[in-house]
Amino acid sequence: MNILLLGSGGREHAFAWKIVQSPKCHQLYVAPGNAGTSKIAENLAINVTDFEGIKAALIDYQIDLLVVGPEEPLVKGLVDILLSDELTRKIPVVGPPQLGATLEGSKDFSKRFMQRNTIPTAAYETFDANQLEEGLAYLEKQSLPIVLKADGLAAGKGVLICESLEEAKASLKEMLVEQKFGDASAKVVIEEFLTGIELSVFVATDGKSYCILPEAKDYKRIGEGDTGLNTGGMGAVSPVVFADTDFMKKVEERIVQPTVAGLAAEDIPYKGFLFIGLMNKNGEPYVIEYNVRMGDPETEAVLPRLESDFVDLLWSIATGSLREYTLEISKDFTTTVVMVSGGYPGSYEKGFPISLPKNSEGATIFHAGTALSTDGQLINQGGRVLAITGKGASLDQALENAYSTVNQVHWEKSYYRSDIGKDIKALNK
Ligand code: ATP
Repeated sequence: MNILLLGSGGREHAFAWKIVQSPKCHQLYVAPGNAGTSKIAENLAINVTDFEGIKAALIDYQIDLLVVGPEEPLVKGLVDILLSDELTRKIPVVGPPQLGATLEGSKDFSKRFMQRNTIPTAAYETFDANQLEEGLAYLEKQSLPIVLKADGLAAGKGVLICESLEEAKASLKEMLVEQKFGDASAKVVIEEFLTGIELSVFVATDGKSYCILPEAKDYKRIGEGDTGLNTGGMGAVSPVVFADTDFMKKVEERIVQPTVAGLAAEDIPYKGFLFIGLMNKNGEPYVIEYNVRMGDPETEAVLPRLESDFVDLLWSIATGSLREYTLEISKDFTTTVVMVSGGYPGSYEKGFPISLPKNSEGATIFHAGTALSTDGQLINQGGRVLAITGKGASLDQALENAYSTVNQVHWEKSYYRSDIGKDIKALNK
């Protein structure tokens, strides 16, 4: 089949890498893609929010399946637009329509969904700009620290963890009245702070059935020991040792089943991946957030562990036949180390030539912010540049495979964390 994949990050290179391994894929197009996807598929110069351009590509290239990588086109209603057009409405899509995507697009919507479906999550209240006084009074009654969340998408920056009441009150005012995050903070969710260890669980669903993909843990901050500024993600590991069978059973029964059943019961159409951010609090799972797509860099750790045909999985999600699909997962460990441009997540220089090793046995190099210069040289173009995944029979082996490749990759001012998986190793002892 002809497949169009939307996106340009490491997640999409991992999707593309897995898709082209399937004999079911005749031709893969990636819009807009990156230097890595250009090697294994045909990149199309179409932005993920250029809906007219996407529609034209679906028709011109006779696409049989559309796979949406990032959340932005979903939250902006791409799927609804395709469904309303005679020429595109029959093309199966992996990714929910706008209503389903609101699970990520509005934190208030997702909290209300969880409450209605008795899905464990932190206690909360939502306030808008007309309710500042009520919000401030609510804050007075809460224990510290307390979490303030802009309702809408704020590029991962809209969540503040406040240690003092003064800070919380000032931040609430800034968000609601001064619109610190623009429209995204027109409403603010004030939420109980949960203590525990975070992990991510990925679910594929066609709106009726589901399968649970390998879980992963990501490393959000720029510095060693998870210190410093937040980033898009500096690494990931899978599996996660503290997510044992007992814990995962609770996740499935208390969270995954009621989520999929709730979507169906409330007529919220959903065919796609659902990424559930969880807190493991003393062995009990709580939902921190839903995302309506796979995670990045978690995808780069999760997909190399899938053994069953990936195009079959995507097709089953998009066509509502997931019940007949059998997911096979490798017992191997995977660890992903993200290499970034020096200075990221602040400002950084672009355009440095990148040299890659000829032999990267045991590891796969996924491209994110890469490009080819006019003379065909691979250069850094974004903050997160490469995601390197090592695979092995143990966590140690996977880490060794990842880092031995990382150590052979060079460009000026590159940076990576050398402590990915260290915390998990400590838990293992
Ligand atoms: P991202 O873009 O990283 O997915 P987001 O902006 O959608 O984030 P959340 O995932 O809801 O927002 O929160 C960001 C981070 O803040 C979480 O990964 C977690 O570390 C922390 N956090 C959020 N809610 C809570 C909570 N109730 N208790 C403790 N920590 C929390």
